[in-house]
Amino acid sequence: MATINKNYRKLAAGYLFPEIGRRTRNFQAENPKAKLLRLGIGNTTEALTPEIVAGLQRGVQKLSKISTYTGYGDEQGNTALREGLAKFYGERGVSLSPDDIFVSDGAKPDSSNIQSIFGDDNIVAIQDPAYPVYVDTNVIFGRSGDFDSGTGKYSNFVYMKCDEENGFFPSLPDKKVDLIYLCSPNNPTGAVATKDQLKMFVDYAIKHQAVIIFDAAYSEYISNHDLPGSIYEVDGAEKCAIEINSFSKFAGFTGVRLGWTIVPEQLTVENSNPGEVRTMWLRRQTTFFNGASNIVQEGGLAVLSETGLQESRGLIDYYMQNASIIRSGLQPIGLTVYGGDNAPYLWLRTPGGLSSWDFFDKLLRETWVIGTPGSGFGPAGEGFFRLSAFGHRDDIKAAVDNIVNKLKL
Ligand SMILES: *Cc1c(COP(=O)(O)O)cnc(C)c1O
Repeated sequence: MATINKNYRKLAAGYLFPEIGRRTRNFQAENPKAKLLRLGIGNTTEALTPEIVAGLQRGVQKLSKISTYTGYGDEQGNTALREGLAKFYGERGVSLSPDDIFVSDGAKPDSSNIQSIFGDDNIVAIQDPAYPVYVDTNVIFGRSGDFDSGTGKYSNFVYMKCDEENGFFPSLPDKKVDLIYLCSPNNPTGAVATKDQLKMFVDYAIKHQAVIIFDAAYSEYISNHDLPGSIYEVDGAEKCAIEINSFSKFAGFTGVRLGWTIVPEQLTVENSNPGEVRTMWLRRQTTFFNGASNIVQEGGLAVLSETGLQESRGLIDYYMQNASIIRSGLQPIGLTVYGGDNAPYLWLRTPGGLSSWDFFDKLLRETWVIGTPGSGFGPAGEGFFRLSAFGHRDDIKAAVDNIVNKLKL
């Protein structure tokens, strides 16, 4: 008799986006003339740029001729792409071997799968609020106890609170933990960790032989270059940190699919030899995954070209101007707005002490704008609300106009 993985039953219902969809559909049914403005989901909206389209086309062309045809690619990903990524890091002062870089189909799969190479009794620490993948995948793998709907927390996880008092970057866990998930620039709060803040975690991880899983999916949105775009800008991080990144938000690849993970050879955990963790990730990937599409990897190479980088920065500037339009529209009407300077997310304190969901309903009803309730990202997100800067300029402007003119504060 087959049985199921009962850990799936522990998952608090996949409530956030379905519930947003349900409330939105109800509202639209009752108000068919309302033109809804969606600033909810973190999904890119602007077209791929010419150099990158040419790269993808080159990928297709290569497959069309016997002399350049390739089937399965190099195990860890296209060697030229891994060398290009190593050079990309080199330019910001981080020295990596292409052998430490693993190309994948995105940061979400990697941030889900990485936990599978660690022991099932490892204690997991996550930022609260956080991108939900870190929590859910560790629940599925059995590292949590049950969900407590009163506190909104799973037992056995260590929730590292990120709030206004600590500038949305957590203090060190007050007990020994083994796997620490950090995301900077942060989804959902838009906060970016400083080198000193990351150094504090790197020192902790080295002392406790813990591993930091660093999600840098928004690194290219950092405009203040005193802030680290890679955890390896911090001394010692190569001994204790795995970094995950992607072309999704960097170059509009959310639907194209291409990412990478760095597992440095020097990284060690309790009882492991240097290189062993990296070899385990190779084993995991070559067993469960057969590589990113060779067409798409050609597109990734185009992103890293001089013109490709320039064009991608143009796309990022576009979204960051959206962020600036949202922020400069909302602050003067008395809303408290965080983030949006080095990340495409704005994190609002809900006005009048409203709960995240009550503010969702109010914003939808009065302004037709759809955002994301902060409580969907963890209990410390209650009383906050995320607006995304991914959108067409006209929609962003219309949303800000509606909020400024119609929201009753
Ligand atoms: C969007 C996002 C990702 C997803 O990346 P993909 O490469 O598209 O899978 C990963 N992490 C965070 C924090 C994100 O917001």
